[in-house]
Amino acid sequence: MANPRRIGLLGGTFDPVHIGHLRGALEVAEFMALDELRLIPSARPPHRETPQVGAQDRLAMVEQAVVGLSPLQVDDRELKRDKPSYSIDTLESLRGELAADDQLFLILGWDAFCGLPAWHRWDELLQHCHILVLQRPDAGSEASEPLRDLMAARNVADPLALNGPAGQISFIWQTPLAVSATQIRSLLASGRSVRFLVPDAVLAYINTHGLYRG
Ligand code: ATP
Repeated sequence: MANPRRIGLLGGTFDPVHIGHLRGALEVAEFMALDELRLIPSARPPHRETPQVGAQDRLAMVEQAVVGLSPLQVDDRELKRDKPSYSIDTLESLRGELAADDQLFLILGWDAFCGLPAWHRWDELLQHCHILVLQRPDAGSEASEPLRDLMAARNVADPLALNGPAGQISFIWQTPLAVSATQIRSLLASGRSVRFLVPDAVLAYINTHGLYRG
């Protein structure tokens, strides 16, 4: 029988994808020896501001960004639905396509992890995946009690010791590059350069399609 596959998942709006996402993803993929790390662009929730850039453009930019960049891949399942997806739906959908022993690693920044108890059916997430928390030295948020209980029950000190297809939590220390999509949108809106903050192919796409102009 084939070895279980090790698959990382990184969701985001990727509006636009930038070197912070890509460098972070690549480091996790190498450190964890992942077979693939899927970037999963999310549909934008209807209550957020009017999309500046639609789903197809955000997807196209992520696709451009990962060309030739094994093991990074793009998974567009959340954009194929007509409403924003809950992570639990995405995980159930992925699980329907994978072998039962394939390992899934949901990658979350510490801040997102702290918000977990507000997620739809959050207590079921670990049935489908492990959670890898990217911890940064200057993290501001604090874990609530239900989350601390979950960590006490499921934490594994060494991320490389996470075993089985799902069910455990571990932490990776990573200092993110000081880049955000918000900063990139704002630079572009004021006519400044974002060269070296996004891959050249993404910059070319932005320019060709006139995206994020003020
Ligand atoms: P925005 O500025 O629009 O809020 P963003 O740059 O934070 O966007 P998202 O698409 O919201 O990008 O992020 C997707 C995922 O990538 C999140 O888990 C986020 O923590 C992570 N991420 C964002 N920026 C960085 C970075 N500079 N380094 C590492 N990971 C990042």
